Amino acid sequence: MRKINPGSVSSYIRYGNLKIPKSIKSECPQCRNITEFMINANFQSSKNGLLTESSCPTCKKSTVFIIMTKDEENEHADTYIYDIQASKHLINHLESLPNIPKDLIRAYRSSINVFESRENSATAVMSKRVIESILKHFLKEKSKGQPLSQQLEILPNQVDLAKPIQSLSHLLTTDGSLHRMLELETEMDYETTALLMDLLESLIEYLFVLPGKIEVTHNKIAKKFH
Ligand SMILES: [Zn+2]
Repeated sequence: MRKINPGSVSSYIRYGNLKIPKSIKSECPQCRNITEFMINANFQSSKNGLLTESSCPTCKKSTVFIIMTKDEENEHADTYIYDIQASKHLINHLESLPNIPKDLIRAYRSSINVFESRENSATAVMSKRVIESILKHFLKEKSKGQPLSQQLEILPNQVDLAKPIQSLSHLLTTDGSLHRMLELETEMDYETTALLMDLLESLIEYLFVLPGKIEVTHNKIAKKFH
């Protein structure tokens, strides 16, 4: 489920004080194109909220929208699109990432399954397999016969951790299109704003969230064994 930002609603129907979306510009959960969904909902018969379907003009597949009509304090009716991929769960994103080994995805998926069914030994076995798979992917021959601690120690020499950040610098060059949009010299379209928001999220995750999470988990594990 993904919340539709009022900025993505291109037209409304007014119902009392409430604005009900009539057309919504959003990423299609099926084909991933940004398209315009026309909403034909009989909201007058709905007390609290309604569920409606709309077809994507690009792939013609149907998508479900949920519109909350009860909240009187809100001018815009809260609207959600049913998008299973929008879940924050890492596992749902893994397959769409470039260059991630299939055996790593399989091992990680299995480790989640055994963890969820509280099979502790199986979780230990699968977790070790995930760590080994990550190390083997980057270290290749160098991982052979080395203890995990040693492999982790040399991992940063084999992975270019700076590359994702450095690759962004050319996007922001002073005479580049994106920089001109950020300076309001040219107008930014909706699709670009959505990509920009993704970029902000990724930057914050890479620089703050992930290092912070690793540190917190590390401290918890260290505390448990001392
Ligand atoms: Zn579509």
